[in-house]
Amino acid sequence: MSKRKIHITDVILRDAHQSLIATRMRTEDILPACEWLDQAGYWSLECWGGATFDACVRFLKEDPWARLRQLKKALPNTRLQMLLRGQNLLGYRHYADDVVEAFCQKAADNGIDVFRIFDAMNDVRNLETSIKAVKKAGKHAQGTLCYTISPVHGTQTFLDQAKTMADMGVDSIAIKDMAGLLTPQATFDLVSALKKNLELPVFLHSHYTSGMATMCHWAALDAGVDHLDTALSAFAGGTSHPPTESVVAALHDAGYETGLDLALLEQANNHFRNVRKKYHQFESEYNGVDTAVLMSQVPGGMMSNLANQLKEQGALDKIRDVFIEIPKVRADLGYPPLVTPTSQLVGAQAVANVLTGKRYETITNEVKKYLQGWYGQAPGEINQELQRRAVGNEELIDERPANLLPNEFHKLKSQIGDLAESEEDVLTFAMFPDQARTYLEQRQAGTLQPEPLEPLPSAGQSGNISTEFKITVHGESYDVHVTGASPTSETKRRFYMTIDGVPEEIALESLGEFQKGSGPGKREKVTNEGQVTTTMPGNIVDVLVKEGDDVAAGEPVLVIEAMKMETEIKAPTSGKVAAVHIQKGDRVTPGDVLVEIG
Ligand code: MN
Repeated sequence: MSKRKIHITDVILRDAHQSLIATRMRTEDILPACEWLDQAGYWSLECWGGATFDACVRFLKEDPWARLRQLKKALPNTRLQMLLRGQNLLGYRHYADDVVEAFCQKAADNGIDVFRIFDAMNDVRNLETSIKAVKKAGKHAQGTLCYTISPVHGTQTFLDQAKTMADMGVDSIAIKDMAGLLTPQATFDLVSALKKNLELPVFLHSHYTSGMATMCHWAALDAGVDHLDTALSAFAGGTSHPPTESVVAALHDAGYETGLDLALLEQANNHFRNVRKKYHQFESEYNGVDTAVLMSQVPGGMMSNLANQLKEQGALDKIRDVFIEIPKVRADLGYPPLVTPTSQLVGAQAVANVLTGKRYETITNEVKKYLQGWYGQAPGEINQELQRRAVGNEELIDERPANLLPNEFHKLKSQIGDLAESEEDVLTFAMFPDQARTYLEQRQAGTLQPEPLEPLPSAGQSGNISTEFKITVHGESYDVHVTGASPTSETKRRFYMTIDGVPEEIALESLGEFQKGSGPGKREKVTNEGQVTTTMPGNIVDVLVKEGDDVAAGEPVLVIEAMKMETEIKAPTSGKVAAVHIQKGDRVTPGDVLVEIG
């Protein structure tokens, strides 16, 4: 009897570093491992997606399209796979069909072979255009089930969705368990149902967050799964995926064939183990097994981002409250699965609810659009009172949202103008307008510079004699030896030291953030009701008033972006604008006086 073949997709170049080090791995750290990866025998390597694209443009100052072309060249024998957000492509909004078509074609031209296509609402209408475009480009279109648990989800709902996707012509079905919520029994039931009712290969993508993913793999094998997603062990476990080498060893011992060479995997893995150290500043505190996910349903990628963002805002202590608030917001929104962009949408609203201390006092623009129907149909009932409050008298939509979007490629092309040297550049601009413009301007000026990396913690200590010194205070002398410090990215930094041999810790509050913005220095704090402030820390994306304007209470005066979500800040009172203390791009924190109405 021939051995049953189980195909492996390694997510080391996309999801693994997205889950564990905030998607910061650079092309220079990927290319040296490509020869081993390409010979190892993978069915595919996942290497591209929204977060990798975003991080390239925003932080690494790399052209994501150039990365793709380099990978294609370095991995000639292995399928390259990407994760595509259906009508959202790699962005956070729905695009018109002409942009979706152009994007799929260009991704195929530049090297993508397999498109894993999902919609955050599991609204299949949002997959139509991209599935067609991928088929037209002659590539593999994979229909995705965003797995979640709720009173309105079950094996039958997912099976119905898979059947609809099969009718739409997909080449395979993926179960995308972004938060690690699958249990072995649920996996067995779902994979069995898919294999019994459909003729398509089934892929399982299950995050290790809750610690159950390898058990789910085994249950899936018994139910007839064809493909498993794993990550090389250097970036496996925690909010990432089951370790490739362990899964391969277990499969081989049980008589399955993977076609993978463990010796080559080990060489590639040793490379990535060293690489990970370089990115230590991005390691999340929440990258181990965290069973709290069974309550909060927060997916891995979102968990580390949420932790990083709360840390930036000096509110990391609120993370558990946010995890408790998330399921409540999700229920109000009709139980969407939590995956980009709904995870950001629900996450940012939950953070707003917790930080303001009052639920829905601030409603982000995206939540308003969601409640209006601009993301598609919610899986369950929406909280009608919240919907009325957010949407007001504006119209609700119930058709495929992109039906209402006129073609926009040419408009985007003229907006970015000469900065775009190719159609790919226009698409980059379409995905992340502000970040892409900055990137393209810097590219033209020759000033692209990746964000700096902090040196390894040990490098500062060994061979640096200035960590030991003597101080004299009030006539008393002390021998001080500084032994370590927390990352500079924290607003409150801790320094560890021994004083006369006794271990001590001091915490310093940084004033640095006040110097970073383009503002005149530290902002005044709110003392009267005509002063406009923000309820969430964030960046100013738009100022809607100028000095001398008349505004009415409740009228929006500025727009801030926090956690990738935009929120309007409204005038607390009516009157004339006496002063505007901010401009686009400024970083602001709650309590700062931003605009004065007098
Ligand atoms: Mn994932």
